[in-house]
Amino acid sequence: MSHEGQVSFSAGIDVGASKVRIGILDSEGRLLVRRTADIRDRRGESAAALEFIRGETAAAVREAGLPPEKIDFIGLGFPGTVDEAGQSIDFAPNLGWRNVAVAPHFRGFSRASLGLIQDARAAAFGEYLLGSGRGTRVLVCITLGTGIGAGIVMDGRIYHGSFNTAGEVGHMLVEEDGLACACGRSGCLEAYSSGTAIVKAARQWKRWNGGPALQEAVEVFRLAADGDAEARALVARAGRFLGLGIVNVVNLLSPDAVIISGGMCGQEELLLSPVRQYVLAHAYALSVREGRFRLVRAELGEDAPMIGAGMIYRGL
Ligand SMILES: [Zn+2]
Repeated sequence: MSHEGQVSFSAGIDVGASKVRIGILDSEGRLLVRRTADIRDRRGESAAALEFIRGETAAAVREAGLPPEKIDFIGLGFPGTVDEAGQSIDFAPNLGWRNVAVAPHFRGFSRASLGLIQDARAAAFGEYLLGSGRGTRVLVCITLGTGIGAGIVMDGRIYHGSFNTAGEVGHMLVEEDGLACACGRSGCLEAYSSGTAIVKAARQWKRWNGGPALQEAVEVFRLAADGDAEARALVARAGRFLGLGIVNVVNLLSPDAVIISGGMCGQEELLLSPVRQYVLAHAYALSVREGRFRLVRAELGEDAPMIGAGMIYRGL
């Protein structure tokens, strides 16, 4: 993009299925203002939701003490596929949006150019610039959440692939004729290792018979930490399949670092450590050289997609 070097201030917007996070950033990625709003009741209608997001963005800009024309770039991260020009959304299943043009809603920011990106790629770029991926040549950042997505940054640029679908590690085949996946196929990594998959499997335990159903993967991790055998086995299976997927990613791309982000990335003992051991044991040995290759958690936490989206003008 031609704007590199000309951006003084940008807005990074992470549009999730339940929340939108807006950050006003300077050219170094320093966060001047952070604003969060609930969009669950609004996301059903994309035009109304985008108008709401524009209004919240304008409020964040005011809060930062800037006039709207000082914003040179607006980057939006979405949970879905955006068009190759980065101007509209092709399909965002968790929002229920299809073929949505975003640019018309942001005309009020007269000087800003607009960029859309899939949220996992935004998170990867945020970690590359300001988080645990700093200084890497090849970085893979895997976000574990409802699904599993990944962003790949190579020599400072986000890698998109020929059909703009690079990084779909959640649909990497890890077991032939395995568990059903939301994509319609079976045996995909995210059917084993996503938060949704862990919750779904735990809900089938006999002991819940008639009792309150489990809501979040973190509850399974809590049970596992308390020594519950079924929970430990379930978490171990999720880690094994995740490790298997990462081995294949590492062997293909030879990254300096694989970063794990998303709600489960803080589970060092139960998840990251066994995954790291699995990868070190099974990946091509020269690709995981000691002291050079790293498998670590994300540093920016929930801010990663927001910060990355606001800075993607540097990596497109
Ligand atoms: Zn799938």
